[in-house]
Amino acid sequence: MSCAELSAGIGHVWRLASQRVDRLDARFLLQHVSGCTLAELIAHPERELSAEQADRFDGLVSRREAGEPLAYLLGTAFFCGLEFAVSPAVLIPRPETEVLVEQSRRRVQELLQMRCQEQVQSRALACIAPRIVDLGTGSGIVAIMLARLCPTAELTAVDVSVAALYVARANAVRHGVQIRFLEGDWYASLGKERFDLIVSNPPYVADGDLHLQQDGLPFEPRLALSDGVVGGDGLGCIRTLIDGAKNHLFPGGWMFIEHGYDQAVQTRELLHAAGFTDVDSWCDGAAIERVSGGRQPPGNPRNFSKL
Ligand code: GLN
Repeated sequence: MSCAELSAGIGHVWRLASQRVDRLDARFLLQHVSGCTLAELIAHPERELSAEQADRFDGLVSRREAGEPLAYLLGTAFFCGLEFAVSPAVLIPRPETEVLVEQSRRRVQELLQMRCQEQVQSRALACIAPRIVDLGTGSGIVAIMLARLCPTAELTAVDVSVAALYVARANAVRHGVQIRFLEGDWYASLGKERFDLIVSNPPYVADGDLHLQQDGLPFEPRLALSDGVVGGDGLGCIRTLIDGAKNHLFPGGWMFIEHGYDQAVQTRELLHAAGFTDVDSWCDGAAIERVSGGRQPPGNPRNFSKL
């Protein structure tokens, strides 16, 4: 866009940008740069951008035109109705990940009900807080949503990427939740700690999958998308997670993993082979089995000395 075009008022600027990128994307970028609400854009199309704003807007439209995801340009994305900070160090939240949150929330709720009954029966003073760990937390969306939905739970979130943890910490502050963040490769930073629930949205796209070249995925961190095994099936990280679970789950503890559209059968097989019971899969909004999980065989109820 020329300087004259960019100084012709935001209504005109919006129209011109809509010829280069999606109209809605152009609107979000224009609102982001100008600080105007949608009502202001419509009611005052004659309002002008400053030279600096015009320059920034033109740059953002060009990047969008080149395929960069809108979320990275805006620096935020929505998940479960809340706004989260994102950067190119983290995967952009996908709606299908809500299934992972919902299944986890249900199990924690069940666990809490059980614990409360035990508490009443044993006349204990307090119910033991459920311990949850989110492995490969990225922007922290899963851990943060669980912390909000299960306020009595103790949340730990792990990621191997320091840059991702920076984003996740900022999101935890933004949404007012307490989470212990640890840097490490899957279970490596957890020592001998055990949890009631392990939850993960790991990298699972098979290395050669053409999908990695489409829909803005080339701009997302490859580390968060694919296990990097050349010619592999994309299940490398899922295997590691399932293999290690028995050393980090309490008896009766649950594990939920998000996986690819065609990986439910294999993930269930891996869970069965690792001794999980109640193995099942749950569909996303597109009716695709997207999350699988199971439970470690129950043992004696947990007590304080086992902590
Ligand atoms: N579901 C994402 C996609 O296919 C990938 C997410 C992931 O690897 N965890 O784009």
